[in-house]
Amino acid sequence: MKCRRCQIPAVIKLPRHNTAFCRDCFEDYLHNQVLKAISANKMFKKDEAILVAVSGGKDSLALWHILNKLGYQTVGLYLNLGIGSYSELSQERTETFAKGRGLELIVQNYRKTYGLGIVEIAKESARPPCSACGTMKRHHFNRIAMEKGFSVVATGHNLDDEASRLFGNLLNWQRPYLEKQSPTLSDNGGKWARKVKPLYRLPEREMAAYAILNRIDYILEECPKSKGAKMFVYKEALNKLEIASPGRKLAFYLGFLKEKAQLFPSRIEENPNTCGECGQPCQDETCGYCRLVARVKTKVMS
Ligand code: SF4
Ligand code: ZN
Repeated sequence: MKCRRCQIPAVIKLPRHNTAFCRDCFEDYLHNQVLKAISANKMFKKDEAILVAVSGGKDSLALWHILNKLGYQTVGLYLNLGIGSYSELSQERTETFAKGRGLELIVQNYRKTYGLGIVEIAKESARPPCSACGTMKRHHFNRIAMEKGFSVVATGHNLDDEASRLFGNLLNWQRPYLEKQSPTLSDNGGKWARKVKPLYRLPEREMAAYAILNRIDYILEECPKSKGAKMFVYKEALNKLEIASPGRKLAFYLGFLKEKAQLFPSRIEENPNTCGECGQPCQDETCGYCRLVARVKTKVMS
């Protein structure tokens, strides 16, 4: 197998592009996919500082590596969720990555802040762990971005994440989620940091290859709370479709983005109010995060 561009031995075959690349051409191709995603969705400008949300996994660390290599100004943000050895190891991998490249990393530790990890927070607030985790993450990403002067937060969601989320939302006809799904999420008229997903054109397999070729030491384990998640079933189904018809996954997601404006023409303002407790944009008088934290405090103190 030879590289399609330079004819030296290839390191990866890409059936969806009916091609194969050597190490340098693969890197070039992958960086171009990221640049294409950034410019097509007006994610950020070259002089804008980017807060990169990192989990210690391959996608977020590779994203940080890529943005840094492409010359963007970046600072990492790691949230230690307090999930035993998984959190300890993922923090260690993230810190080693940042230190080795001389990059700044902000760490927020839930156990230090709340005295509880996300599993206990979820239990005390009577919410499923991933639902409480999503609410908490959104709040911290936005709060830390605003406090430190970042207008944009980049996450490592890849094509498999986005296509499987779309698949699940369609299977369950989740119209509000379909309306919101996008590589660039609303910044609520500047009141919120813009959330962007520069890896949405790249599948998991290509991101794993990139991380290995660039010797990125990432945590292999998934969060223990992700066990049994429906998302894995959707990913598996899409992988089968991809094998039968290479390129289907990206076509499915890009097709949705193209049709979205016509499918959902009247977009209601997402969060018109300001939370009376924390000052972040929200739908009612108090945001979901403040309601969750108040519930935990009441339960823990009673
Ligand atoms: Fe949070 Fe883990 Fe659930 Fe992901 S799988 S949302 S990190 S609790
Ligand atoms: Zn609030």
